[in-house]
Amino acid sequence: MYKKMLDKVAHSKKIIADVVRTCRRIAVACSFGKDSMATVLLAREVHPSINVFSIMTVFKPKETFEYLVRMNKLLNLNVKVYMVASEVPQVLKENGIEVKLLPTERFERECTEVETVYGKKIYEVEPDRCCELLKVEPAKEAVKNLDAWICGLRNTEGRTRKDYREIEFRGLLKVNPILNWTEDEVRAYLAAKGIELHPWYNMVFPDGRRIRSLGCEPCTVPVYDWQDEREGRWEGTSKCGGECGIHTRRLK
Ligand code: SF4
Repeated sequence: MYKKMLDKVAHSKKIIADVVRTCRRIAVACSFGKDSMATVLLAREVHPSINVFSIMTVFKPKETFEYLVRMNKLLNLNVKVYMVASEVPQVLKENGIEVKLLPTERFERECTEVETVYGKKIYEVEPDRCCELLKVEPAKEAVKNLDAWICGLRNTEGRTRKDYREIEFRGLLKVNPILNWTEDEVRAYLAAKGIELHPWYNMVFPDGRRIRSLGCEPCTVPVYDWQDEREGRWEGTSKCGGECGIHTRRLK
């Protein structure tokens, strides 16, 4: 790794070390996207047994669940998954992943309401509502007993991420240790550590577009290299390039 990269790694680790020193109840959030993976690696180098949690949804690609299982085993993450679902996805069950299932009644009721009114899926016409129910509410559950959480948010990912800070307070401390890393730096760091990327990042579409920001399957599309990474999220909706809410909402 070249010097600028080593400096960034050292800076990120210092941020994590500082928060680990001051907060007793702390965990890393991991979506198993590239930025989360870099953050988890950094955090585990600072604190080898730091807790890792993941908010999964019933709309995540099957490759995400499979990748979660591989990375959990490879890095001994002991990840705890939170998801609104009536049953644990088979691959997680088979591999003994700890999953906290959260009630589905409200989500099912609101899906039915939206489909009755619009004749479309909730994520097509009301993605904010869908994210609120499937991501924000489980995130609140995941952090309810924490003093701080660490995540892989970066300010070059898109228009909505430019103004974040490395340390924030939204009901509890929120730490963004790779805030100033670029997309290329994240990829280079993972390559240097020998960590495979989620397979969706390796897909190149015939027109050259690639998946550069990974979310739920219906809300993730490939983008050109000249676009912001997050322009591939919620395309065709008012939420395009936006936020699911876990970084913008107060979670406690
Ligand atoms: S990313 Fe899409 S499918 Fe996933 S919770 Fe948000 S709106 Fe729903």
